[in-house]
Amino acid sequence: MPKNTPETLFIASDHGGYQLKEFLKSNLPKQYKLQDLGTASETSVNYPEFAHKLADQVAANPDTSGILICGTGIGMSITANRHRNIRAALVHDKFTAQMAKEHNNANIIVLGGRVLEPSTALELVELWLSSEYSGGRHQQRLDLIERRNLNSNRDIAAPLSQVDPEISQLITQETEREESKLIMIASENCVSQAVLEAQGSVLTNKYAEGYPGKRYYGGCQFVDQAEQLAIDRALSLFDAEHANVQPLSGSSANMAVYLSVLQPGNTILGMNLAHGGHLTHGASVSFSGQIYRSVYYGVDRETEKLDYDAIEEIALRERPHMIVAGASSYSRTLDFPRFRAIADKVGAMLMVDIAHIAGLVVAGAHPSPVPYADFVTTTTHKTLRGPRGGMILCRQEHASKVDKTIFPGLQGGPLMHTIAGKAVAFKEATTEEFVKVQKQTVINAAFLANRLQEKGLRIVSGGTDNHLFLIDLTNLPVNGKGAEEALDDAGITANKNGIPFDPRNPADPSGIRIGTPIASTRGMRETEMEIIADCLEKVLSNPEDNTVITQVRSTIRELCSRFPVYSHLL
Ligand code: PLP
Repeated sequence: MPKNTPETLFIASDHGGYQLKEFLKSNLPKQYKLQDLGTASETSVNYPEFAHKLADQVAANPDTSGILICGTGIGMSITANRHRNIRAALVHDKFTAQMAKEHNNANIIVLGGRVLEPSTALELVELWLSSEYSGGRHQQRLDLIERRNLNSNRDIAAPLSQVDPEISQLITQETEREESKLIMIASENCVSQAVLEAQGSVLTNKYAEGYPGKRYYGGCQFVDQAEQLAIDRALSLFDAEHANVQPLSGSSANMAVYLSVLQPGNTILGMNLAHGGHLTHGASVSFSGQIYRSVYYGVDRETEKLDYDAIEEIALRERPHMIVAGASSYSRTLDFPRFRAIADKVGAMLMVDIAHIAGLVVAGAHPSPVPYADFVTTTTHKTLRGPRGGMILCRQEHASKVDKTIFPGLQGGPLMHTIAGKAVAFKEATTEEFVKVQKQTVINAAFLANRLQEKGLRIVSGGTDNHLFLIDLTNLPVNGKGAEEALDDAGITANKNGIPFDPRNPADPSGIRIGTPIASTRGMRETEMEIIADCLEKVLSNPEDNTVITQVRSTIRELCSRFPVYSHLL
């Protein structure tokens, strides 16, 4: 069966093509769901009527294709090509039938009933159906067809490649990088075509200060619905009481929570940046450490895991107003009931930042903090696999304070295109496929960490419960900076990272952070983790050996080519 078999194949003709239409209907392989749109006899009819009918169907259903036949094929093709997104190709021989798909991605083939032998016509249709669109440079040309036909304002309709070839080229290069390299940065993911489309939409034009139904601008009827969808989906996904989907980033979501309920000088107890916490959890270089009095908890020196008794002791001593749970490079399950109990003991509020693990939480691959926390913040672009941005979930009692802090407190017009992208990602996160990928992300990380330990590498805390882990490079011939460079040279992109109690400088620390979200989104499983473990070990043990780097680079390139992600964009 041809690879590109469409779900449905429409067929239509006028009287001049009627006999050939009937012949094709009887002789085309049965796997096609053939839908005959007429004509029903050899009585004279007007061909445009049938061409429009079929083109409407194909344009409205992008997975379908069509066959149009009239005496010469000319009238049918002229008519069909008036339709947006229709590429109707009049073909006469094998070469034109094949090229019609390979270069023009024709979604309608047009035949001359008085020109072709029925057996030749059948052969041409089958060749067109079984050929594959080559994409690449041809896509740009197909895009140009649409824009030229549709828009009198050529400047606004001109494609990026024409307006700004430099940026266009950089985007292509970045797409190629993401496609051909194995990206193991724990905080990154690759979004779907659907999310990309929502983000690249005209919603970017719309000012919508305020919230759905309460805006300071007119014309918000559609963006209101988009934001409401994002909110409703977030609430149902996380089983939360209130959601604000407007924060521009994870950092601004955290800032909004603090500004909503804390006074300058109040105390925040968060995880030490050097042990895996985030800048916004009270680090001195961040607003959170400058506006508030920040105190920290960290991991135990022996186990490299959180010691909840020690956290409680610090809380009792420091009496924080807010306890912050959550991390950027901590590989163990967080005990939210315990955090809640500690917060209650000292009368503190609890904010849980699930920026890294939000996708795992949705999929049940990490416990949810929602029943325990006053506030849950997250980015939407890490394991959650949405557009770059942030979100706040909170209890109803804090809803209006949080909303007022985001707007008008911190932000003006929300990024409606990003909010639409968040809505799409939240919808995708309800799918079985998403849940499967999240669970596999955790399995892959644990498998990879175990294999590396078997190969003699030291993994911080002895393993992982989530999507990431840290490799301690202390006993290897490379530090964090060199490891990041050598791995990237070999086709694996990861980031240098401090390890707990790191004696080295953050610019060239003793660790490297490895994450499996992207590999898992691409469909990789344990078999591939085995290969990756081998590659990681080889590069980290021989960071300056060009033969090793070259060999790993080719293994990784081959691996990535078997798990395409953005090949449709290239
Ligand atoms: N919170 C945590 C735990 C993070 O790891 C990050 C980013 O890495 C953030 C917040 C901040 O997100 P953003 O980069 O969108 O400001």
